[in-house]
Amino acid sequence: MATYDVAITVPEGWTAVTQGSPQPDSTQWVVASRSEALTVVANRFVVKTRSWRAASGQAIQLATYLFPEEAALSDEYLDASARYLDAYIPILGPYPFSQFAVVENFFPSGLGMPSFTLLGSGVIKRHYIQPYALGHEIVHSWIGNGVFNRVSEGNWVEGLTTYLANYYYHELTGDQAQAREQRRHMLLGYSVYIRSGDDYPVERFSQKHDEKDNAIGYQKSAMVFHLLRQELGDATFWRGIRQLSDRYLGKVAGWKELERLFEEVAGLDLRWFFAQWIERAGAPELAITGLQLYPLHGTAGDPRTIEAVVQVQQAGDAYQAPVDLEFELAGGRRHVVRVRVREGQDRWVVPLSERPLAVRLDPDIHLFRRVARSDMPPMLNLYVTDGVRTVVPPSMPSTEHTSPFTELVQRIMTQEQAKPSISPTTIFPSERREGQLPNGSVLMLGGPLDNVVAMDALRGCGERIRVTESGFTVQGKTYDGPGMALLVSCRRDDQPDSVVTMLYGTSPQALGRVARLLFFYGWQSYVVFQDGAVVARGDWEDKMSPEVRFDQP
Ligand SMILES: [Zn+2]
Repeated sequence: MATYDVAITVPEGWTAVTQGSPQPDSTQWVVASRSEALTVVANRFVVKTRSWRAASGQAIQLATYLFPEEAALSDEYLDASARYLDAYIPILGPYPFSQFAVVENFFPSGLGMPSFTLLGSGVIKRHYIQPYALGHEIVHSWIGNGVFNRVSEGNWVEGLTTYLANYYYHELTGDQAQAREQRRHMLLGYSVYIRSGDDYPVERFSQKHDEKDNAIGYQKSAMVFHLLRQELGDATFWRGIRQLSDRYLGKVAGWKELERLFEEVAGLDLRWFFAQWIERAGAPELAITGLQLYPLHGTAGDPRTIEAVVQVQQAGDAYQAPVDLEFELAGGRRHVVRVRVREGQDRWVVPLSERPLAVRLDPDIHLFRRVARSDMPPMLNLYVTDGVRTVVPPSMPSTEHTSPFTELVQRIMTQEQAKPSISPTTIFPSERREGQLPNGSVLMLGGPLDNVVAMDALRGCGERIRVTESGFTVQGKTYDGPGMALLVSCRRDDQPDSVVTMLYGTSPQALGRVARLLFFYGWQSYVVFQDGAVVARGDWEDKMSPEVRFDQP
């Protein structure tokens, strides 16, 4: 690792940007913080700078280096940079550099460099200021570019950065609903892409090459920090995070250093924790397997009149972790107790003031665990990850109306040829218009009018979806007109691990853009588009938190 003095000469009209601080004439840069490498970027930038002082008092120069076409977005990026720096300085300590710059790249990139982030034009145009985007790159200023990862021992940097930026920013700004949604998404990401037994431990993750690496090295790893926080309590956990940047700024750290540091800060032996979550592949799978209610004959005046005995079983080797049990009481009231799973089978006795209607395990999704496919909300990604997939093209001969579908089918086939590892998709022969759909998940192109098989396949949607001549109805709300399109997934009622997904549009224009970007909309049960833009989205019920309802007396 080294520090640098850099002199840069560029042609007239060009500007260069690199790490560290620019000197007044912008051709000299002083890179005082030690770093693993030096990156210099030059282009015909429009440069905008802002001398800014963080709430902590630290002076930081904010800058954007954008192409003329995007220069108008400068203030949006400067404002967002200031917002994230003010959010993370109290958590991670002083910002390790004197400048933070957003630099536009003609290659599609999203890279966090010491003191700047290098972003492709495509993402700059799309207002890339969200916590998972600009927020993530700013956290890398400390985690990854301030404290370096020991690359020979896996990669904890992406998990912690994902936890602090993509997830924790929502908690920090008080958006509890969005924070829960992020936790839910991390469990879904892992459970959709990682089949049981087709897994590797977090410590073996080094770099993201595919969705599986993302699920382990980003999502599971981020949840491991959430579990560590619950294990240690907020005060100790955040003291540890702060110590990490204080002690290791300009140095390398691996999982072992993190383990030692948190043990020291907490005064606890955490070997079991890191062995369980970092060195072992997989995730807990929990089910409520027993439930009884007993009347309590306590002392007079004691409000506890009933005792619930709850039994939870883990599949496979047992994990140790805290988990919430939520009792639903009359009038929608809730009573939550935190218990701890330890053995393959655990049993708790919980006194209650009244007879509960139901009990749920981990209702707010704080535990990292595997969710069965049949318990997830139906969504396109269940089709994508099904071992048996069938595309059903419209039964009508190819017309202007069906051409977005023809292109989509061609694209799916081309992509599969490039990835021979995945099982091939079957195309349902268009002359066979009757009889049974094949097993597994089905992607149906066109509505019931284009496609006679559609009617039957949509049975799993029940009353939630209705297709009309000029539009459709989703849960009672009608969408009409030539620009409307619907992507909807429902469970196959005879095969709960598989889904039927329908892509329907009221005109070819409504479908063009949607069909091209189809696989970006994989996480929801339904998405409604108007002229290619999302106007509504949502999920059918999921069963991600195991629940048992009590029989009424
Ligand atoms: Zn990252």
